[in-house]
Amino acid sequence: MYFNHQTIVFLNGNWVPASQAVTGLYSQTIHYGLGVFEGIRTYNTPSGTHIFKAREHYQRLHYSAKVMHLPLPYSVEELIDISYELLRLNGLTDAYIRPLVYGEPMMKLLPPAQTSFFMCAWEWPRYLGNDLLNIMISSFQRPNPKSTFIDAKATGHYVNSILATHEAACNGYDEALLLDINGNVAEGPGANFFYEKNGILYTPPKGSILMGITRATILELCQNNGIEVEENFFTPDVLKDADGAFFTGTAAEVAGIKAINGIPFKKQWPDTIGAFLYDEYKKLVLE
Ligand code: PMP
Repeated sequence: MYFNHQTIVFLNGNWVPASQAVTGLYSQTIHYGLGVFEGIRTYNTPSGTHIFKAREHYQRLHYSAKVMHLPLPYSVEELIDISYELLRLNGLTDAYIRPLVYGEPMMKLLPPAQTSFFMCAWEWPRYLGNDLLNIMISSFQRPNPKSTFIDAKATGHYVNSILATHEAACNGYDEALLLDINGNVAEGPGANFFYEKNGILYTPPKGSILMGITRATILELCQNNGIEVEENFFTPDVLKDADGAFFTGTAAEVAGIKAINGIPFKKQWPDTIGAFLYDEYKKLVLE
């Protein structure tokens, strides 16, 4: 699914077949989870293949690499150029791009002096599917923001995401919603969260979340369409009386939620602000 015998990837400055892009077993990233990455979508638009928010994603990759002390030897512009070349070499238009900065062989608990840089792409359907989601409040919290740079997209953070998604799946749910260390709603394992009440949207602020690029796009769409959004902390009990809710993320795009812990939202999805934003987002990415 991710690659076949024709797939070409970028590895440390070279274009190589995916099957030959290998790494050793002594990397810090494998042992300790110190790596940073991005997830980027590309769309087939009337003016050609377009990488949505390429600059924002590569700026975030640079931020993640900086706070995690991982050298990243390519500028934002170079990373964008490599991405377009990757798409061209693989004949991809609607795709998902995955750049990864990972550590050299090193077992000390210190940042590596050198890193490797890998980039691949594949066609990936919407991550949470097209159906409305039944989600559960996870028993796992998002990591304490004082234990890491939680706003960096670091590989190790996704242990927490996998545990939460696995728990939700084992309990028959489509996805999890994680709280922060104070019991406030934070985000999904791989997406930000919004809910609607009386015509206003609410979403958690910076603190225990990844500052999603889709989240920022949704905030812009709301501003342009006169939709009020409050960025504030809230506990999960307010969701019992909410009118609707949705996740946002590059892979998931805008994904509507039907119920949380079996309690459905008051409005039917097509009548929610989320459904309107779903359409607006679709239009924007295809512009
Ligand atoms: N939170 C987490 C934990 C994520 O992994 C993602 C996906 N990158 C998001 C939020 C959404 O971020 P973005 O909209 O930039 O993809």
